[in-house]
Amino acid sequence: MKIHEYQGKEILAKYGVPVPQGRVASTPDEVETIARELGKPVVVKAQVHAGGRGKAGGIKLGKTPEEARAVAEQILGMDIKGLTVEKVLVEEAADIKEEYYLGITTDRAARRNIVMVSKEGGIEIEIVAEENPDAIAKLHLDPAIGLQDFQIRQLGFDAKLPPVALKGMGAFLKALYRVYLDYDCSLAEINPLILTGEGKLIAADAKVNLDDNALFRHPDLAQYQEEQEDDPIEAEAHKRGLTYVRLDGDIGIIGNGAGLVMTTLDVVKREGGSPANFLDIGGGAKAEVVTKAIDTVLLDKNVKGIFFNIFGGITRGDEVAKGMLEAIATMNIQVPIVVRLTGTRAEEGLALLEGSALTPAATMQEGAQKIVALVNQKAA
Ligand code: GDP
Ligand code: MN
Repeated sequence: MKIHEYQGKEILAKYGVPVPQGRVASTPDEVETIARELGKPVVVKAQVHAGGRGKAGGIKLGKTPEEARAVAEQILGMDIKGLTVEKVLVEEAADIKEEYYLGITTDRAARRNIVMVSKEGGIEIEIVAEENPDAIAKLHLDPAIGLQDFQIRQLGFDAKLPPVALKGMGAFLKALYRVYLDYDCSLAEINPLILTGEGKLIAADAKVNLDDNALFRHPDLAQYQEEQEDDPIEAEAHKRGLTYVRLDGDIGIIGNGAGLVMTTLDVVKREGGSPANFLDIGGGAKAEVVTKAIDTVLLDKNVKGIFFNIFGGITRGDEVAKGMLEAIATMNIQVPIVVRLTGTRAEEGLALLEGSALTPAATMQEGAQKIVALVNQKAA
């Protein structure tokens, strides 16, 4: 899960990291008020889950509260990489002398967390890595040892940081590492860490990505998650405990197992269809789950047909068939449903479906062909 810069900065501030003074706003009025309260030139920054906001025009200076309001009017509602700006962070503008990079992420190949420090901050680290890889000092961390002072010094020397930055950045790195561990992060980054004209260090940007699998350990971050779900159907599906991703086609796809569902999307596409979603119901297929899955897929009004692709392993085919029959008996479904059942007790399952409103299919390809034909037929 990604969180916004202002949320990342809230976390960093809790860990004692100096961040610019400021607040988040969603209207030009609020922006003007905040700028007036701060009483100095401000920077207005788009809050979207994307980097490169500066280049995209999502970061602008306002010398006066009126100017802050004017730039906020430009930035709010703006589109950055397909995301609409609904909030901006208004904070005291920094007097930037130099920009550095500090980051921690997981290096899967090394099975370690890796710390990176660079003098080339302010631009995306991927670009530095490509154009000037020697400018990034790196260190893999031993989880039992953590991040020691001597390692921080070495990183600073390797990155050729000037003495003033060398001295101060250790506190930032240590805090960043504590945030990384405490919040189960997959990435924690300060880019840029700025050196001001007065020789002070401040975190001017914060990027904190959290490992979704550990979110249950951070109920305090639940509020951040709700905010980031832009698609109302996805948000509802997740509330119902379903693994659902919305796509832009018209054939609803339901299956058990992520790999199977992904393959189903490909096969439907190859047969000329266009999937409306990804939905993995996981193991088991009780009527209740089937009902929930169908109901969720049909929240998308583009859906003109549903393809169920079930592989019977521990989940028995006849149980699935019973679940489906029970589910459709209680629902008023207006679209064709094709069911492909295979594996454990598939024949028994398919026999149960005979004479019902469901169209059986013996293979995934046959199922895909049938649902595409049924949807096209309906459209014609
Ligand atoms: P990103 O492009 O999405 O990573 O957004 P950042 O927060 O990193 O900002 C991008 C760039 O905008 C920084 O590297 C700075 O050069 C510039 N910037 C951000 N905040 C300020 C500020 O307060 N004052 C000035 N002069 N420039 C800023
Ligand atoms: Mn940045």
